[in-house]
Amino acid sequence: MFEHTYAALGEDFAAPARPMPVAAPRLLAWNAPLADALGLPAAWQAQAAQLFSGNTLPEGAEPVALAYAGHQFGHFVPRLGDGRAILLGEWLAPDGRRVDLQLKGAGPTAFSRRGDGRAAIGPVLREFLVSEAMHALGVPSTRSLAAVATGDVVVRDEILPGAVLARVAASHVRVGTFQYFAARGEDAAVRALADHVIARHYPPVAAAEDRYLALLEAVAARQAALVAKWMHVGFIHGVMNTDNMAVSGETIDYGPCAFLDEYHPAKVFSSIDRNGRYAYGNQPPIAQWNLARLAECLLPLFARQGDEGVADARAVIEGFAGLYQRAWLEGLRPKLGLAAAGDDDEALGRDFLAALQAVEADYTLSFHALAAALDGEAAGLPRTPAMDAWRARWQARLAAEGRPAEAVRSTLRAANPAVIPRNHQVEAALGAAAAGDLQPFEALLAAVRRPFDDGPAQQPFMAPPDPGQRVLQTFCGT
Ligand code: AMP
Ligand code: MG
Ligand code: MG
Repeated sequence: MFEHTYAALGEDFAAPARPMPVAAPRLLAWNAPLADALGLPAAWQAQAAQLFSGNTLPEGAEPVALAYAGHQFGHFVPRLGDGRAILLGEWLAPDGRRVDLQLKGAGPTAFSRRGDGRAAIGPVLREFLVSEAMHALGVPSTRSLAAVATGDVVVRDEILPGAVLARVAASHVRVGTFQYFAARGEDAAVRALADHVIARHYPPVAAAEDRYLALLEAVAARQAALVAKWMHVGFIHGVMNTDNMAVSGETIDYGPCAFLDEYHPAKVFSSIDRNGRYAYGNQPPIAQWNLARLAECLLPLFARQGDEGVADARAVIEGFAGLYQRAWLEGLRPKLGLAAAGDDDEALGRDFLAALQAVEADYTLSFHALAAALDGEAAGLPRTPAMDAWRARWQARLAAEGRPAEAVRSTLRAANPAVIPRNHQVEAALGAAAAGDLQPFEALLAAVRRPFDDGPAQQPFMAPPDPGQRVLQTFCGT
């Protein structure tokens, strides 16, 4: 069943939109487990190409495009909005969950400016693949329900086959949504939006004495947890503009994102990120910067005003660094096979990373190799004096914890994936799909959905790129 509580907030929040019919819809990918979990009508699968290209609307849908603003690479744009995304409505799942069901690439809206409102098959399948991988890795993320080829072309630098992605999100409220109303001085709208977000994503906050300050704290805590998870799986979002940061705490908007191959904190893949603003190692301070923009929007609603209100906001923003650090350490321990906190955890983690960086070792495979290194098998780790010394320290720390090797091994194996969507494999799969062969995409999707499985079938997807296969840049490919 659909509801439309967000659109009901007012006409400034969401503009009516109509998906524009496409020539020859053909289903490329269908997420059956997700459809089941959401309790979608069984008949939708057979009609998926029609329904999720926008050629027919599911019963109860009331399509709209959402308004939002955003800081893009640090520059404020007061009106962005869904230029190529159309929200069909909020689907109520049998378990009580409320999720947005959105079509991305379904044609122009009131916010399209000069854009065509369309998407090409490559970026659509890329988002499908990477969002499903993130979910399987345990990272909060929007999900992909369906990808449909349109049979039309989109004109970019090249002429490309078009597609539509059906995306499922806890909501599509972004930091930029708050900015849209705050920049217009519409405090009542900011309040209505904040109340909507509290009811939808942070119900306990409603009972707080200063609920809007508590909302800021709650969003900061979820972002700290989220970005720590990104860092631990080696994920680089690529475009952490404030319009691409969901207040629900889900990863949203997969553009020129990438996973690290060799470890380096300054790593950037995105072709549009020339100054490295959104480099791998910059993601925690950028999340903090984005939260400061959210704080500015919420300030007028705080219980304490003037300097006191600013001090309250500042305390939360400054506190983000500690929240992030704690979340990072919590995620680090199982990656090192540790069960309990110790004083040297941070140094142990940092020194391991430094030893990887020194020889440009593969990030994912090095952590994955720790399970075998437990038994003295060091094949997957750099053969350097620094790493040898590190291993001795690590073994001593594990010995001090005194857990049975089996328990340590299962901790390591549950925390360190074998398979991530490697950039070179993603590119190869998308290239084949654009040429009409979906088999590589399907094989890669199956592998990234079992990221902790390192059995024989997974081996082809574990290998790092050969020098000639390395992807140096990723593109928005809007
Ligand atoms: P993004 O970089 O994907 O976060 O998008 C930034 C802004 O550009 C958003 O307002 C999008 O809706 C808009 N946009 C991106 N691609 C298109 C397109 N092909 N047509 C219309 N609007 C677009
Ligand atoms: Mg976006
Ligand atoms: Mg995008």
